[in-house]
Formats: sequence, structure tokens, C-alpha cells
Amino acid sequence: MKQCREQAFLLRLVPYKDHDLIAHFLGQTSGLLGAVLYRARGGKEGFSYQPGDKLELDYLSQEGSDLVRVNSFSPLALIRPHDFTYPRFLCHSFLVDLVTRISVPGQASPGLFGLMERMGTWAWPPQEELRFVLWALDRIGQETGYPVDPKVCAQCGKATVKPGETEWVVRKETYELEEPGLVCALCLGHPGSWSGAEVKALALSQSEAFLDQKQPIPVPLMAQLCLKLSRRLLVALELAPKSLGLFERLLLG
Ligand SMILES: [Zn+2]
Repeated sequence: MKQCREQAFLLRLVPYKDHDLIAHFLGQTSGLLGAVLYRARGGKEGFSYQPGDKLELDYLSQEGSDLVRVNSFSPLALIRPHDFTYPRFLCHSFLVDLVTRISVPGQASPGLFGLMERMGTWAWPPQEELRFVLWALDRIGQETGYPVDPKVCAQCGKATVKPGETEWVVRKETYELEEPGLVCALCLGHPGSWSGAEVKALALSQSEAFLDQKQPIPVPLMAQLCLKLSRRLLVALELAPKSLGLFERLLLG
């Protein structure tokens, strides 16, 4: 048994037996952690935290066991779901689901931990919820080995931008998003569904400054990109999270 203390985000709660909960956390140094929380269901003494909350955990870990024994937890930063817009709620649920499914026990992920942190602290302006999802999908793509480089065709390597331009000026070309990345119409042998405007918006979404909302992007365009990027990731990772249905309905508006 090893005594541990670390910061962690609560990712998922599943009812277990009559009075218990199984909780999954993303630990800053331990990656995915599972714990049975005994007598944590219901009543005044029940466990009141929610997926997305950041806690400090005190726990015992045992060699060879997937589950840790949590001795105590104290709140560090709590989300306030009552203040969420409905779209934010759907985006939050979908992203937390994704992070839960791709986190690995025993493997720290500064990228995913940072994403959870940002998800809790970002302002989430109404109508702009998809901006965060767009930014997050790029991070998740990088974390899972499926990044998209908006600057080149993933097959022939030809640049998507015109040479010599300082601004992002996209070629008159269409693309399709495939598993290796964007593929141009020439390589595809037929026109793709991605226009230059989408390629440009994707490039913008990958910068840290994107969350500052300085570059306006129409909501329908963000929804299109979220749909295409999330579908590619889910197919590549063979995931079908529960929250997907409502999230896609939000995107399809
Ligand atoms: Zn090509």
C-alpha cells in the first residue's frame, strides 16, 4: 500500500450496489484513477461532487490493483452547473466523456489535465460554446495521435496556403478530412466537402489565442467543424460515448 496525495478531476460517477459509487478521476500524476466510494449515495452525507470538479485526493494505492482507496477529498475548484447554458452542459458532458475514455491508468497526461483545467476556468460565453469544443478537439487529436495539420495535404504534402502570403490565404481547392488528416481533391480524385474557409477556421482554432475570441467565426461553421472533427476522432478511436447523441443534435441544430 502506498499513501498518495494529488490533484485530480472527477470524470465519472457510476452507482454501485445499494449505497456505493464507483468514481473515475484524472489524476495529475497518476492518469486515470478508479475508486469505490462506500456509502456515498444519497442522504446528507452523500458524495456531492460532479464530473468536472477539481479535488485534492488522499488515497492508498495497491500494487496490481486498478482501484485506489480514497481516504479523503477536498474541493479545489468546483464547476457550477446551475450557471451552465444548455449548450455548455452538452459540450461539457461530451468532452468529459471523451477524456474519461481516452485517459490511461498510471499515465499522466498534462495535455488532458490542462484541458480539464481550461474547461473549468474558461468563461463559456453564450453562443460561443462550440469555440471551446473546437479548441479541445484539436488537443484531444494531438493527445491520441490523430492531429490534423491544416497547412498541408496529408497525402501529397502540397501546402493548403498560397506561397509567399503572410496572411492565411487558402488555395482554391477542396479537401476531405480522413484519418491521416486533410486530403486534397486531386489526391481524392473528386471534390472534398471542406472549403478554404473551413481549412482556415481549423487553423485559427488551433492557436491558444483562439479562446480569447479575437477571431470571430460564424457559429454554423464552428458546428460543421466540430461535427467533422469529432466524427473522425470517434471512428479512429472506436468510441461512442453516451453523451454523443445530444451533442450531435446540438451541432446539427
Ligand atoms: Zn493532395
